[in-house]
Amino acid sequence: MMQITLLQSSDLAVCSRAIRVCWQSQDKSDNGGERDRELIDRVGNKNKHASTLEHLFYTFYIQGVSRACLQELARHRIASLSVKSTRYTLKELKGEAPFETFDDRAAKYLVATGAEAVDRASLAALENLRRLLTQGIANDRAKYALPESYKTELAWSANARSLQNFLRLRTSRSALWEIRDLALAIFDALPEDHKYIFAPHIEPESAGA
Ligand SMILES: Cc1cc2nc3c(=O)[nH]c(=O)nc-3n(C[C@H](O)[C@H](O)[C@H](O)COP(=O)(O)OP(=O)(O)OC[C@H]3O[C@@H](n4cnc5c(N)ncnc54)[C@H](O)[C@@H]3O)c2cc1C
Repeated sequence: MMQITLLQSSDLAVCSRAIRVCWQSQDKSDNGGERDRELIDRVGNKNKHASTLEHLFYTFYIQGVSRACLQELARHRIASLSVKSTRYTLKELKGEAPFETFDDRAAKYLVATGAEAVDRASLAALENLRRLLTQGIANDRAKYALPESYKTELAWSANARSLQNFLRLRTSRSALWEIRDLALAIFDALPEDHKYIFAPHIEPESAGA
């Protein structure tokens, strides 16, 4: 099960303050209240002066996604990533007993797809990897035998403009199921009073897909 934790987010007033610099209307601010929230939506979303949304910044701690999902997430260039390194952490497998079934112990390392034959193949790859490591093969070489289902974690930061783009593309029904789950979980993790900026970018029917 993936887990998303919001590590930090900007105050909405940072964005409204930046917008008000353009019109020199700082005296009309209500310090991030209803008037400022409406201003952000009108200027940043409706008037498409979207660069103002770049002042809002978010950092998430994402755990339990596959490296297949990471590969797609990493395509979003307007974001910052710090990813768990397999080069340094593969030794976590060395102390494990052989993997024989897709139990909770295997699920600590692998994302299950629900397709039994695929999950069996992932489990075999995990066991192969464990054996390579116990034979003394270095992480730098053994990592080339990693299955795409291998779980990873990362810190991921993006500004609101880029996050809108990410949510629009990745909550779409045409997106990979796992990154769609991730996009919806990221939306859920946002501060409640920020969600109105992003809600129009969520594909509604994707929640049940
Ligand atoms: C359903 C789906 C299927 C996909 N299939 C494939 C596939 O088969 N193969 C594949 O390689 N990728 C595929 N992708 C990935 C896709 O091509 C993008 O790389 C990815 O979605 C990141 O989107 P982005 O470039 O908008 O995001 P970001 O990289 O975060 O960029 C954000 C925005 O900044 C602007 N921008 C960023 N860089 C540039 C630039 N160099 N020049 C001009 N403007 C820029 C653009 O407006 C862009 O939308 C797929 C994506 C989706 C959603």
